[in-house]
Amino acid sequence: MKRAIYPGSFDPLTLGHMDIIERSSRIVDELVVGVLNNSAKNSLFSLDERVSMIKEMTDSMPNVTVSSFDGLLVDYMKEIQATIIVRGLRAVTDFEYELQIAQTNHVENPDVETIFLTTSLQYSYLSSTIVKEFASYGGDLTKFVPARFIDRIYEKYHISK
Ligand code: ADP
Repeated sequence: MKRAIYPGSFDPLTLGHMDIIERSSRIVDELVVGVLNNSAKNSLFSLDERVSMIKEMTDSMPNVTVSSFDGLLVDYMKEIQATIIVRGLRAVTDFEYELQIAQTNHVENPDVETIFLTTSLQYSYLSSTIVKEFASYGGDLTKFVPARFIDRIYEKYHISK
């Protein structure tokens, strides 16, 4: 049984993340979306909010679960018996960092493999950071995030539409 983890901050979940979740869930037996509890990063949405938003969007996917973790990814993977890390690659700029992380994780635990899915073309520019930047100025988010999250994101910036 191949259990994979798709780790990230998901602050907030974007259509680019959803694309990776949908596509990778068709490749592996079980996919755990792992939301990083990164206390050093100032997040827009709390950990609980991020987890429940992803749960809302993956409810109908039978082999996808959502959980949060802190500390080292490889340690958490041992705990949940996952051996595959899924990451998305957008541009060359993602590559160097992702390569380093993948190699480090493999050294830490040689049983762990990282697979990269290249972004679908229409999401190649999309990041949670861009979404937050746009939202803070009241920009149109319909092409960036699942429709049901748009109001929740604006609320964080005290914007009513
Ligand atoms: P992190 O804080 O670990 O970068 P993110 O939540 O920003 O977490 O991203 C999680 C993963 O999703 C990363 O592998 C990232 O490259 C990937 N990702 C983010 N946006 C996109 C996108 N538009 N298309 C494909 N992959 C993406």
